[in-house]
Amino acid sequence: MGQNNNGAGQKVGFVGLGAMGSRMVAHLKGFADVQVFDLDVARREQAAASAGGEAVASISAMADAQVVILMLPDSPIVDKVLRNELLKTLKSGALVIDMSSSTPANTIENAKLAKQHGITFIDAPVSGGIGGAESGKLAIMAGGEAADFARALPLLNRMGTKVVHVGPVGSGHAVKALNNLLGATILVATSEIFAAGEKFGLDPAVMHQVIDASSGGSFMTAQAWPRAVLPKTWNFGFAMQLMNKDVGIAMSLIESTGVKTVLCEANAALWAKAVKETPGADMTGITKGIREAAGL
Ligand code: NAD
Repeated sequence: MGQNNNGAGQKVGFVGLGAMGSRMVAHLKGFADVQVFDLDVARREQAAASAGGEAVASISAMADAQVVILMLPDSPIVDKVLRNELLKTLKSGALVIDMSSSTPANTIENAKLAKQHGITFIDAPVSGGIGGAESGKLAIMAGGEAADFARALPLLNRMGTKVVHVGPVGSGHAVKALNNLLGATILVATSEIFAAGEKFGLDPAVMHQVIDASSGGSFMTAQAWPRAVLPKTWNFGFAMQLMNKDVGIAMSLIESTGVKTVLCEANAALWAKAVKETPGADMTGITKGIREAAGL
């Protein structure tokens, strides 16, 4: 595939093919010359088929990649993959886009380390869940220099419909964590309200019909309730552990600003407790727990 002006035809590595990455990479089909890697071999094979690309057995096979996209669980893993593998593999001039929800301070450090190798590192985390990843309609918030953002944009536009350049490197990860803390707070509040309504005798489906179209509606009532809460499948597709990680990143950021919070702090404590009690649960497990505590 030859590269052209709109960024098509580039050699692109994609690392991390879980709930999100497996769906995002499929949108690069026919646009980029894709190599995929995940520790899970079956995921590699599936993603290679859906992206029309090549499954590679290690990151060292990505030596010729011009761009590498990361969609990994958290900063400790991103740092390890970047520092121990990518910086030893990629050629000077390559661009690494971290689309995971990582810690801003680690991202800033990663960009510094990458620069020493002539490699550019930017952050471009996403919002919209697996539904947005599947449809290619994610919100994407990028941090980096304007020219680096411009270079990444054609690829980001394949996966998202709202792509915003937020500011310097790390800014995307900062706004992502703050957004998720807000989402996590709304999820807990919505869960408590629905539990109270049901205990009062209201039908949760009818309540949902009203609230989703009213001032109390949110992403949670629009997406999580119909998909995972009302049918009681409790499998929205976003791990409670990942949400708790984002809440922790946001709380550290808030602490560093000196802003005092009441709701966010109470909410963070609830998530930390829920993860301890139900470690492998989906984020909607918090709703299940609130229902159970209410005797529902
Ligand atoms: P996931 O756990 O489903 O997928 C992560 C993938 O990374 C797994 O397939 C795992 O095998 C792979 N992996 C782990 N360590 C690796 C390594 N060293 N090398 C290669 N592969 C490795 O997670 P996800 O839900 O896809 O989330 C990915 C990121 O996106 C997280 O940072 C998360 O917070 C964020 N996010 C998730 C959602 C969502 O709704 N699921 C939404 C927005 C953002």
